[in-house]
Amino acid sequence: MHNQEKNIRVFDYTTLMERMRRLADAYSFVTLSYIGTSILDRAIPILHFGGGNRRVLYVGAHHGMEWITSLILTQFCEELCKVINSNERIYGIYPCELLKGYTLSILPMLNPDGVEYQIHGVDKDNPLHDRLLEMNGGSSDFSAWQANARGVDLNHNYDAGFDEYKKLEREKGIQKGAPTRYSGECAESEPEVAALCNLIRFSAPWRGVMTLHTQGEEIFAPLCKEKPKSEVTARRLSELTGYRLCRAKGLAAYGGLSDWCAEKLSIPAFTMECGRGKNPLPITQISSVYSTMRASLFLFPTIL
Ligand SMILES: [Zn+2]
Repeated sequence: MHNQEKNIRVFDYTTLMERMRRLADAYSFVTLSYIGTSILDRAIPILHFGGGNRRVLYVGAHHGMEWITSLILTQFCEELCKVINSNERIYGIYPCELLKGYTLSILPMLNPDGVEYQIHGVDKDNPLHDRLLEMNGGSSDFSAWQANARGVDLNHNYDAGFDEYKKLEREKGIQKGAPTRYSGECAESEPEVAALCNLIRFSAPWRGVMTLHTQGEEIFAPLCKEKPKSEVTARRLSELTGYRLCRAKGLAAYGGLSDWCAEKLSIPAFTMECGRGKNPLPITQISSVYSTMRASLFLFPTIL
């Protein structure tokens, strides 16, 4: 079913939008909408499945080099559509039945501008061109870019330990926009993060959030005091993927989406570091990474 991957080397925003629209056109049970726009005015798509009041969210590509996570979630959407359409059973569940009680919301690419920089570089006509070159140490090679269009690392821009992170950031000499790790002027300063936070705040209650990153084959699950069952979910995700359960340390422990969901909103949240290798993982890894993640994606709502 994934023959179309044989002909592409990268998975950029244009390819994502084509695949999202194709699904929305082909299947009446899918709704395509947008949570907002990026700094460079790219609409950030989200697909909704089902209409139940138990809501579950999946998020990909906070980081420019991690666009393979957008492809993982796109393949998941495509497979989910087929399974629902033919009322098939998968991993012992009937998604068609499950979706009577659940809504699955899948947001494959939170940071389209960062992904575009990483894949296609920065054009001369980009209004931020000169500033970006400076942030990138004078280099026009943006292949290691993780941040958004103006050098903010989106997974440090959430309101969870933001002030503590600022101190660590200064100690590491990160003072302004950069390819990675700069958290922004204040929490939710970035439109991509603000749009996602608003979606989460105003469509509550959520049963759980899964965020996909690369790489390392690890799972980070911040403590969610009011939902002790989330520890069981984390262990189950670890069994389903073979990924190791870890606690975040140092700079990685602050300001992320999972931290904010668990600490501020008591929503069980799980960060999946998919695959193993060096970022960006080559697209040739997609079938092995997807097959490792597949059961956890389908079963996530049922183990929350
Ligand atoms: Zn990441």
